[in-house]
Amino acid sequence: PVLRVAIMGLGGYGTRVAEAMQSCKKAKLAGVISGTPAKIKDWQSKYQIPKKNCYNYENFDTLKDNPDIDAVYVITPNALHHDQVIRAAKAGKHVICEKPMGLNAKEGEEMVRACEEANVKLLVGYRMHFEPNTLEVVRMRQHGDFGKILFFQGQCGFRIGDPNQWRLDKTLAGGGALMDIGIYAINGARYMVGEEPIWVTAQETKTDAVKFKEGVDETILFQLGFPSGAVASCLSTYNMNHLDRFFLNGEKGFAEMQPSTGYGPIVGRTHKGKLTQPHITHQTLQMEEMASIILEGKEAIIPVDGKEGLKDLKIIDAIYQSCKTGDKLTLNL
Ligand code: NAD
Repeated sequence: PVLRVAIMGLGGYGTRVAEAMQSCKKAKLAGVISGTPAKIKDWQSKYQIPKKNCYNYENFDTLKDNPDIDAVYVITPNALHHDQVIRAAKAGKHVICEKPMGLNAKEGEEMVRACEEANVKLLVGYRMHFEPNTLEVVRMRQHGDFGKILFFQGQCGFRIGDPNQWRLDKTLAGGGALMDIGIYAINGARYMVGEEPIWVTAQETKTDAVKFKEGVDETILFQLGFPSGAVASCLSTYNMNHLDRFFLNGEKGFAEMQPSTGYGPIVGRTHKGKLTQPHITHQTLQMEEMASIILEGKEAIIPVDGKEGLKDLKIIDAIYQSCKTGDKLTLNL
């Protein structure tokens, strides 16, 4: 069986996913949901999408009457994810949602619940969870190659351009760099250390209050503590380039990756030598694996379900709160 996917949001990343899906065997682009008729027309001819599988943001609830779509992949600005995921679930479709899954833990909980009630799967577009060099480091950690894990460092950022884009609009982005790129350090800390954090501290700094308005974070430093005693130190920013680096340190060894979460290839080494897993287009691999998760009940090595997305949202809430109050906050994931 093949997972027949409708992409919602035909922007930059939606386009990338559609292209990557052309190489999938188990997943197929079968429909689109867009507010722009001209884009729908382009995609229809480019990907042979029948008219009956094309929807807009007003009428996509009628997907429930369309047996030729199995799943909706939501790739719109962050603030839209919550309502769109819940509507797709109510239409009886499995949902893949881009990161961040929602704007906060409350939204995330509602999304997880709605998908449970509709008896559909909710997955988050965490493409790194399928990336071969990432999985190699996780395998080595599980095998004990690094010994007891002591420290993780995640540095994620880029210098953002156009000041008028939705990523710098609090109402559409829900925040700033942390929602968009810092989330890779949060998520990475959890899968590299292999534990759930129990406390968080965070500090915010802003050099440009015109570009980064109230509620849109430019740079945040945050620290996480784990039950074993391991700690993480992370940087999230919209104001620095060449910042895509993971470092994991244990009693017996280390792993370092740079780039660590970009579209690849992921480059890195451990105390044993270079990481040599092949580069496969992340979104192709992701959609292939997600098709197996949805259709065959396969379990991901690093989970990508809604509860995973919710954990990151809980940490995001705590980081923003700690930035405001300066408090060290306890996490209960
Ligand atoms: P984009 O601006 O390129 O595309 C967003 C699309 O949403 C556009 O086609 C736009 O027309 C559409 N849209 C629908 N309703 C809208 C509204 N009310 N306001 C503005 N736009 C609206 O953005 P993108 O880079 O494709 O990001 C989309 C989502 O994908 C975000 O949640 C982002 O975090 C995520 N993303 C994930 C990755 C990844 O590697 N996993 C990479 C890039 C983006």
